[in-house]
Amino acid sequence: MKVAPRFGSGHRILVTGGAGFVPSHLVDALIARGCTVVAVDNFVTGSKENVAHLLDTPTFTLVEADISDGLPAHHPAFAERFDAILHMASPASPTDFEKLPVQILRVGSVATLHLLDRALNDGARFLMASTSEAYGDPKEHPQRETYWGNVNPIGIRSVYDEAKRFSEAATMAYHRSHGLDAAIVRIFNTYGPRMRPDDGRAIPTFIAQALRGTPLTVHGTGDQTRSICYVEDLVRGILLLLDSTETGPINCGTEHEMSMRQLAETIVSLCGSSSEVTYVTRTADDPEMRRPDLTLARKLLGYEPVVAPEDGLRRTIDYFRDRLG
Ligand code: NAD
Repeated sequence: MKVAPRFGSGHRILVTGGAGFVPSHLVDALIARGCTVVAVDNFVTGSKENVAHLLDTPTFTLVEADISDGLPAHHPAFAERFDAILHMASPASPTDFEKLPVQILRVGSVATLHLLDRALNDGARFLMASTSEAYGDPKEHPQRETYWGNVNPIGIRSVYDEAKRFSEAATMAYHRSHGLDAAIVRIFNTYGPRMRPDDGRAIPTFIAQALRGTPLTVHGTGDQTRSICYVEDLVRGILLLLDSTETGPINCGTEHEMSMRQLAETIVSLCGSSSEVTYVTRTADDPEMRRPDLTLARKLLGYEPVVAPEDGLRRTIDYFRDRLG
């Protein structure tokens, strides 16, 4: 299936969380297509630096606001209608789950409802950034979109998992009841430049430790697996879904499944580091394995990830090397 570009020059796109890691790469891709992009962010986990190169671009506007308090309707960038709204805002790392639980619940519930109303009002396409965490600690492997998940509703991770599941439910309700043109993407572990070295996710943590020559801290035995996706591949997948008329949910990621131990060892080797790999206490409800079934993404969107893990990791290491000195 080949999806033709639907959004480009002359289209106005709202990207929530636009100064974050993944969303800022999406903003770049939309600007490169000729779209006019409004990014809204409260910088709770994102940074102005991620979009600093766009601040003089006439088709780009950055608005500082907490979207859980409602959309900044008074701002001139919100006066005109949007053709598409991409709800990407949410803290997303395991350390955020402990530090920002209420903010995560609000941006994945109240803010989602505000944005759905705005999309309905504008006749815009609405794209919800969901997550593989919607599957919790999965009992099915690889995970197909039909799997309902295994989530602890009151655990540490629940603020994120359940907020995303609520957002999916809300998106489907607006689609079914109001005919909203909506889409849900379930994003699997993605990495690349613009992640924060201290954000608590495995790849930036391991890279920062390896570059600093300190021990890598693998959680548990390190046998738990993740399938890692370079941000460029993910952005291409999200844009294919945006351009399509599919609703999903559709998984997006790669089948490059590896254990956390393998990942740590690969990073040490690619960094040319002498750091040792050590093992620390595992966080509660940490999923045992993660690999998306990409059948739907391939069939409905023609999606195919192309960046090999060593290649993506090298590019990410170069980015961190520049910043960590
Ligand atoms: P990120 O933290 O870098 O980006 C999120 C952005 O949202 C940040 O800039 C943050 O400041 C902003 N934000 C958070 N709450 C806000 C609020 N109330 N108002 C305005 N802005 C707010 O994280 P990321 O990894 O780039 O994730 C982006 C999206 O993709 C998230 O929705 C996340 O759940 C989803 N996702 C990411 C991954 C991944 O592996 N990176 C996996 C699954 C899902």
